[in-house]
Amino acid sequence: NEPLLEISGLKKYYPKKDGLFQGKKSWIKAVDGMDLTIGKGETLGLVGESGCGKSTTGRMIVGLEDPTEGTVSFKGNDLSRVDKRELGKQMQMIFQDPFSSLNPRMKVSDVIAEPLRLHKDGSRAEQQRRVDELLERVGLRSEHGRRYPSEFSGGQRQRIGIARAIALSPSLIVCDEPVSALDVSIQAQVLNLLKDLQKELGVSYLFIAHGIQAVKYISDRIAVMYLGKVVEVASKDELFRNPKHPYTESLLSAVPRPDPKLRGRDRIILKGDLPSPENPPSGCRFHTRCPKVMDVCKQVEPSLQVTRDGTYAACHLVSEAEMKQPQEA
Ligand code: SF4
Ligand code: MG
Repeated sequence: NEPLLEISGLKKYYPKKDGLFQGKKSWIKAVDGMDLTIGKGETLGLVGESGCGKSTTGRMIVGLEDPTEGTVSFKGNDLSRVDKRELGKQMQMIFQDPFSSLNPRMKVSDVIAEPLRLHKDGSRAEQQRRVDELLERVGLRSEHGRRYPSEFSGGQRQRIGIARAIALSPSLIVCDEPVSALDVSIQAQVLNLLKDLQKELGVSYLFIAHGIQAVKYISDRIAVMYLGKVVEVASKDELFRNPKHPYTESLLSAVPRPDPKLRGRDRIILKGDLPSPENPPSGCRFHTRCPKVMDVCKQVEPSLQVTRDGTYAACHLVSEAEMKQPQEA
């Protein structure tokens, strides 16, 4: 699968307001060195606890924020050198809260037409036809265009947000927790709509969620984030069958299984809260909460390494296991 997007060494540090830490200027390290790729037409799930840097990553990808360090390259071009307007044609974002992400003073048809007008795509009449098409495509009707966002339910508003996001036929949509605020019964409908649109349009998704269950349905591959870093990347099937990183194991252990006797995977409760991204733990930044912590973990930071299964994990235990010869060929 040819890469559409490649992230390399990506960092985002925010200066802390009243900020000195141990005599030095203090930074919130929201994203602290990420490498990732997203293939053409694929859905990459990005999971991790709130505050681990998922949304910041998404915002840097679509150009809403500039990286402190590192690069995002899209179709082989470094984004920092691509015109932001041009970028808007190719990448869009869908937000968690469809109540606040749509301008309440604009009619729905204007909300959806806005990107077309911004990019001067077609005449007014053509734009109106396109808006009608888009409304229908996401399961609404053309009359809905004359109403205001407040007249719609959460699921319908998310459909409006999706119509707007696909208006210019982008190659990538960053979906930041698009169904987290919706009723469970509505979630599946919105996810199915996203899946159908992907088949039709060949669009890639970065699908952000805080729970691993939420990304399971829609993702081809899943990246697990912890405190500003990616700790594991694997195909969805491999990740659920054989999670390698202890943090991934703990996330999976929280997923209720139909028959708990089937596999003896006990619920792993992590100690403490997510540490502050201002002063992340030394060595492996998961070491303060890891049930398998070793001495080396407190000193040496494990790097993201490819395993025999073709998955990636950043953990000393995984590196050790990989160094041992396989038992059988
Ligand atoms: Fe746990 Fe050590 Fe692996 Fe980090 S490197 S996840 S602390 S075992
Ligand atoms: Mg978020």
